[in-house]
Amino acid sequence: MLENRIKSIIRDVPDFPKPGILFKDITPLLHQHELSKDIVKALSEEWREKQVHAIAGIESRGFIYGMSMAQEMGLPFIPVRKAGKLPYKTYTHAYELEYGSAEIEIHVDAVEQGMNVLIHDDLLATGGTAEAAASLIKKAGGCVSGFSFLVELSFLKGKKLLRTHSNEISALVTY
Ligand code: AMP
Repeated sequence: MLENRIKSIIRDVPDFPKPGILFKDITPLLHQHELSKDIVKALSEEWREKQVHAIAGIESRGFIYGMSMAQEMGLPFIPVRKAGKLPYKTYTHAYELEYGSAEIEIHVDAVEQGMNVLIHDDLLATGGTAEAAASLIKKAGGCVSGFSFLVELSFLKGKKLLRTHSNEISALVTY
């Protein structure tokens, strides 16, 4: 089963980036090309029948499988970046973190009006990051068709926050 194969390869790193956090390190998956191919297929398959016009991947781990999904599905890929990284004119969205705040950006021409955008990241924790990406897509004139994750930490209840944008939320692996 794909979920068990993925779980057996993800590396748990305790107390990173700070004490008390058990970090789910996906980089060992990237060494396994057959498994990574199966991951991209499974991530894409979830959305095959749905109205998706583009994939937005969240910096930086959301770029890895997000871009591969876009290729697999024959769709444009939109990088959602941390503030100050994109060279052209941007839309910006500021959001609150546990300590302080952060800003994310996309290029002003990345989203066409009314475009259905699927948001992808490696992992759903509290949902704050993906929620911010959804707000940014809407600010740019897009619609949120759903959320795609490799991993969901279900005990943090991030889905609840994301349901304000879409009920279509998928993850290949749940803890
Ligand atoms: P959140 O906004 O709380 O849903 O956090 C999601 C973002 O933080 C994603 O971009 C993840 O890559 C990262 N993240 C949060 N918690 C973890 C964790 N335990 N292991 C790996 N990445 C995490």
